[in-house]
Amino acid sequence: MAAMAKFDADVIIAGAGMAGATLALALESGGLKPLLIDPLPFETQLEPTFDGRSCAIAFSCFRQWRTLGLAPLLEPHAQRIEQILVTDGRAPGAATPGQSAFFLRFDASEIADRVGGEPLGYMLENRRTRTALAEAVTARNIPVLAPARATAVEVEPGLARVTLADGRVLTAPLVVGAEGRGSIVRRAAGIDTVGWDYGQSGVVCTVRLERGHQGVAHEYFLPGGPFAILPLTEDRASLVWTEKRSRGDALKAARPEVFQAHLERRFGDFLGGIEVVGPVFTYPLSLSLAEAFHAPRIALLGDAAHGVHPIAGQGLNLGLKDVAALAEVLVDAARLGEDIGSEAVLERYARWRRFDTMTLSAGMDAFVWLFSNDNPLIRLARGAGMAAVNRLAPARRFFMQEAGGAVGDLPRLLKGEAL
Ligand SMILES: Cc1cc2nc3c(=O)[nH]c(=O)nc-3n(C[C@H](O)[C@H](O)[C@H](O)COP(=O)(O)OP(=O)(O)OC[C@H]3O[C@@H](n4cnc5c(N)ncnc54)[C@H](O)[C@@H]3O)c2cc1C
Repeated sequence: MAAMAKFDADVIIAGAGMAGATLALALESGGLKPLLIDPLPFETQLEPTFDGRSCAIAFSCFRQWRTLGLAPLLEPHAQRIEQILVTDGRAPGAATPGQSAFFLRFDASEIADRVGGEPLGYMLENRRTRTALAEAVTARNIPVLAPARATAVEVEPGLARVTLADGRVLTAPLVVGAEGRGSIVRRAAGIDTVGWDYGQSGVVCTVRLERGHQGVAHEYFLPGGPFAILPLTEDRASLVWTEKRSRGDALKAARPEVFQAHLERRFGDFLGGIEVVGPVFTYPLSLSLAEAFHAPRIALLGDAAHGVHPIAGQGLNLGLKDVAALAEVLVDAARLGEDIGSEAVLERYARWRRFDTMTLSAGMDAFVWLFSNDNPLIRLARGAGMAAVNRLAPARRFFMQEAGGAVGDLPRLLKGEAL
């Protein structure tokens, strides 16, 4: 199945971020020859100032990384999420049971029999994930051209041609756009996006907690927007909340003692003693959905296909599910001797992912509106919904399995099976 001599690779992947690098490993595991290109060398992605985020990874997505051999690199840094407490409140602190009427609790032990004792998910710092992916890509001798920026893609019968900023030209039967929201490959394919800017920024920082977190993640829906406290290893936590963009910029620029005072004022003593470790990061929040996931000899995945609000920690998970579906479709097609860049093959991928992506993105958008709203009627309605889900054990189990990515027609890698 090796790339034919006339091509530089079986699949050229523009973007060696977390989605693109995972795709390269998945394709390689199935015998295909991928090639990654990125304007940033891996070393840049690994710098402590590059990405301060941590991601909640659904257990099915973590299973994919395990199947691709990343467990020894990731497990020491992966914090199990045993419980998620969701509270609709006017101020943090209401997560203590009994204090809030609208309290939703997800517990891993309730679905343990169905998911083989897996937690609700794992919290991983992006810098750890990026390091693990970079090491695995290097160990498997997957070619990485970096720094190299894709600037154009042209398609002709039987091949796609990628032009790089330095003038080099590469060819393959298929090009994958995994270069995030500003995807050049998507633009070159003439695929439009729909979406909007929320006018908010996600403010992110890592703190060390005086009190242990016991693997509990908290999500608060405050009038100003959602606020999450996500457990990390070594009794640290990743804090994520939304602010108006100008306020987010001011917080990022604030001196450490001013930022710490803001945290204490805003969140009261609920967090206990905390120490901010590392820099404060802000990320502009917007919705951006590609109108199609493929075009002739082109496929899109990750944020290039769908950039969503981080409200339920699903952005990267969606991208990792795309990876599992696309890798399976391509590897199976190659084994059957099909042309992996053909319309019939790419349509299989798009069909597999369309429904999940559209329902989840629309759901997230409705959620942002619903939970960033202080209208008393809306508060009442969402409170009633949360209370109902909390009382109905089957509904709660469904939400937990859905969040874990364990429902529906799962690709083999998400089930923990090799390609
Ligand atoms: C505050 C916040 C919190 C989040 N929390 C979670 C969470 O808990 N769980 C979760 O699942 N998701 C979360 N997300 C979403 C998640 O971070 C993104 O979905 C994920 O990082 C997208 O990965 P990607 O590889 O698709 O794209 P990117 O990370 O954008 O990577 C794109 C890569 O392409 C490269 N590139 C750019 N242009 C070119 C070009 N022309 N040619 C070649 N390469 C190019 C870039 O250098 C980069 O390396 C969060 C997001 C935010 C903002």
